[in-house]
Amino acid sequence: MIKYLGYTVTFQEIPDEVTLCFNITNCPHRCIGCHSPELQQDVGKDLEPDILPIINKYYDGITCVCFMGEGNDLDALLRCMYSVSNNYPDLKIALYTGLDNALDTQYVTGHHTDRDIHEPLVSYLKIGKYDPDKGGLSNPSTNQRLLYHDYIGLENFFDKDITSKFWQKGFHNDKKDTV
Ligand code: SF4
Repeated sequence: MIKYLGYTVTFQEIPDEVTLCFNITNCPHRCIGCHSPELQQDVGKDLEPDILPIINKYYDGITCVCFMGEGNDLDALLRCMYSVSNNYPDLKIALYTGLDNALDTQYVTGHHTDRDIHEPLVSYLKIGKYDPDKGGLSNPSTNQRLLYHDYIGLENFFDKDITSKFWQKGFHNDKKDTV
């Protein structure tokens, strides 16, 4: 089961997108200085039955759905992603993970929708453990990266690093760092 502790609609997690973000709990990572320790706990509601009604509520105003964390049930995470992809094919999907290497996320990013083999299931991938000394994505010294999946090709998965968009003038990520 994938559980979540609330959701928000924001411009600040994925540049150039209006994103509905779900805060996923049961985070398997144990970053030192974790900014949201509650997300490490087994708390919150089952996301699977809730995700489509919530998206439907905000659908007219959003362009992207972001899973802030992968939780501890990858099958359930994939079911949620496919549910979004199959019911709202025009919405992009993003995943924030504490994993350090994009290749470690191929359990998700290696899956593709049935609609079009050239269309990735996950368009945006944030990787990297949270390091309080380096800060989150909004800090130019961050170790975290936001990658964009541009086209198919195992060697070119998530080949576009768009982290610097967070540092551009006018893009204020003043929200606390997440997942
Ligand atoms: S990935 Fe995020 S929520 Fe999980 S331990 Fe690290 S900082 Fe905390």
